[in-house]
Amino acid sequence: MSQHDDLEYQLDTLALRTGHTRSFEGEHGEPIFLTSSFVYANAAEAAAKFSGQEPGNIYSRFTNPTVAMFEKRLAAIEGAERAVATSSGMAAIMAVAMSFLKQGDHVICSRAVFGSTVAMFEKYVAKFGVQVDFVDLTDLSAWENAIQDNTKLLFVESPSNPLAEVADIQALADLAHAHGALLAIDNSFCTPVLQQPIKFGADLVVYSATKYLDGQGRALGGAVVGSHALLEEVYGYVRTTGPSMSPFNAWVFLKGLETLRLRMREHSSNAQKLAEFLDAHDKVEKVYYAGLRAHVGHELAAKQQTGFGGIVSFEVQGGREGAWTVIDHTQFISITGNLGDAKSTITHPATTTHGKLSADAKAAAGIREGLIRVSVGLEDIDDIIRDLSRGLDLI
Ligand SMILES: *Cc1c(COP(=O)(O)O)cnc(C)c1O
Repeated sequence: MSQHDDLEYQLDTLALRTGHTRSFEGEHGEPIFLTSSFVYANAAEAAAKFSGQEPGNIYSRFTNPTVAMFEKRLAAIEGAERAVATSSGMAAIMAVAMSFLKQGDHVICSRAVFGSTVAMFEKYVAKFGVQVDFVDLTDLSAWENAIQDNTKLLFVESPSNPLAEVADIQALADLAHAHGALLAIDNSFCTPVLQQPIKFGADLVVYSATKYLDGQGRALGGAVVGSHALLEEVYGYVRTTGPSMSPFNAWVFLKGLETLRLRMREHSSNAQKLAEFLDAHDKVEKVYYAGLRAHVGHELAAKQQTGFGGIVSFEVQGGREGAWTVIDHTQFISITGNLGDAKSTITHPATTTHGKLSADAKAAAGIREGLIRVSVGLEDIDDIIRDLSRGLDLI
């Protein structure tokens, strides 16, 4: 498929075909270019490629054909101009910070973001004289109040982890743009299948490809998606400083994208059924899933998203003991902090993913001892429900 044809195809076609030129050996699968550098016919060609007069590959820290296929395909299904792949999700977020912030700048970040994102801003980005404030995702006036003359970036994860709070992306984009700042959304939980933040005014979208883009827990990777102009900055940072994606991992993610829509639809459908089951269970005190009408973010999520995703969190009776009883009585659900996998996973946020937070910080973030997070996989939903019921029935 040539690039200008891409505009005529729907997401399902783009997810399987974009970037695959079939120009090498007539192969049907996407080739993996495991090469660090590229060679030229003569000195003049090398000079033309190095100077940028002629497009072409030089070195795989800069560009690699397999990685380029993944970048084109992800940008196409996002409906964005360009994507730059990175070695992990954190590398993508760091690339945004390093590309668009300088000493003296100010960032506003939603409070309930991935733990390493908080540490990245507070411990590393702050070392370079960039100040960061954390605010409540859903409290628009808190965002407005946090704006300063030197605010350059609003960084948001929506829906949040683990409580599935939903940010009003359009309102935050308007706020950012009124003050000359950029809005970046960490869209790892929804993927472009369920949410396309650029349509609501976001400037940059970042991914941990490690999660649903792969979908089978095989490889680490990330990406930044956005306009040509912004992504040229990100590309320059990545090619110069080196958090580039490996060609092999790009190939894994290409395979992941082929089934992304089917998987996200099934994850969402299983999660909805689980959330409804838990909501009706007498040992469950509260369920956090935006697909439930009673969830505070339901209407906004229904407006911004085409599905509610695969992450369901819930609080059980009995605090930590109750939560651990449910976790320890599962037979096949994997006890792990990872998520976005075809296999269901379960974790106790208060003692794992959020274990380092102080008691006050946990309380502020709503991470109670009875809270459990399930990344609902693609197993049969009745089996998933039965696996969770074993412990629930003992509480
Ligand atoms: C996992 C995750 C990250 C970090 O991604 P890595 O690929 O582990 O570096 C960032 N944001 C969200 C929402 C995540 O779930």
